[in-house]
Amino acid sequence: MSEDDIELEDLNGVGAKTAEKLREAGYDDLMSIATMSAGDLGEVADLGEKKSQKIITGARQELDIGFESGKDRYDQKKEMKKISAGASNLDDLLGGGVDTQSITEFYGEYGSGKTQIGHQLSVNVQKPEGEGGLDRDVIYIDTEDTFVPQRIEDMAEDQGMDVEETLDRIHVARAFNSDHQMLLADEAQDICQSEDIGLIVVDSLTAQFRAEYVGRGELAQRQQKLNRHMATLLRLANSHNAAVVVTNQVMSNPDQMFGDPTKAIGGHIVAHNSATRLYLRKGKKGKRVAKLVDSPYMPEGEAVYNIEDGGIKDA
Ligand code: ATP
Ligand code: MG
Repeated sequence: MSEDDIELEDLNGVGAKTAEKLREAGYDDLMSIATMSAGDLGEVADLGEKKSQKIITGARQELDIGFESGKDRYDQKKEMKKISAGASNLDDLLGGGVDTQSITEFYGEYGSGKTQIGHQLSVNVQKPEGEGGLDRDVIYIDTEDTFVPQRIEDMAEDQGMDVEETLDRIHVARAFNSDHQMLLADEAQDICQSEDIGLIVVDSLTAQFRAEYVGRGELAQRQQKLNRHMATLLRLANSHNAAVVVTNQVMSNPDQMFGDPTKAIGGHIVAHNSATRLYLRKGKKGKRVAKLVDSPYMPEGEAVYNIEDGGIKDA
């Protein structure tokens, strides 16, 4: 029996009700359960800590998730690289820049600068190592038709880079709907075989999903698909030592009176899959503020920077 044949209900401690709650929250396969914390599982499925831990252990056993030595782990992490986001404050907040081997999420209101950061990283990753880059190419999945070659030109020129070559090294695809977006992430795996990709940008991760799955009854399906999409992206990050950068909107929008402007779309699923999360907002006097909300090893904090003609700059 392959792991695909094993249902949530086959796990010890998971009854029909618990399975339904888990699926509704987007945890629809063993891997998603195996990688949860007992606290998260308890919250999602309304279970106690002990029972949650037992279910997680069961999922791990079914998947035969083996141990690797601390040394293997250390060796892989040692290969982790960083891409400069353009402003030294922002890089310091991130402990040097945006990490490879994981997903970094930038979320915030419209106009908070998410797309500008996606563009800046697409330029910077091409710079030599030691100058904030990795000398590698970019895959840019553009879901809102907001990729602007002119901005790449501005930023590349500002760094004294060859504009045409910089544009050439960004492999852009427009995603027309969420299925197309997921397909592009699958195809990115092929591109990663033939090109040396160091950064994958998905701008925006959630907009298409949010537009398509509007009803309350569709939420579970949306979350499942988002989870699958992010698993694909994470696999790319790990197997190619690449950075994955996703952007995400917040609950509030101009037509909605009561949204929370600090709460990201996608709930548990997006938060859980993003190792590093930054909340972007406008600050005083045209300045920009990034707040580090989640990081595997850096403390929470804020960085102030500017968006200028030449790109993301120190304030
Ligand atoms: P959305 O949620 O709508 O996608 P976003 O967070 O992606 O929004 P961006 O498009 O990244 O927002 O940011 C737009 C902001 O960047 C605007 O405030 C704009 O003033 C600023 N900006 C864009 N180009 C320049 C430039 N050349 N010089 C200065 N600021 C710029
Ligand atoms: Mg944008």
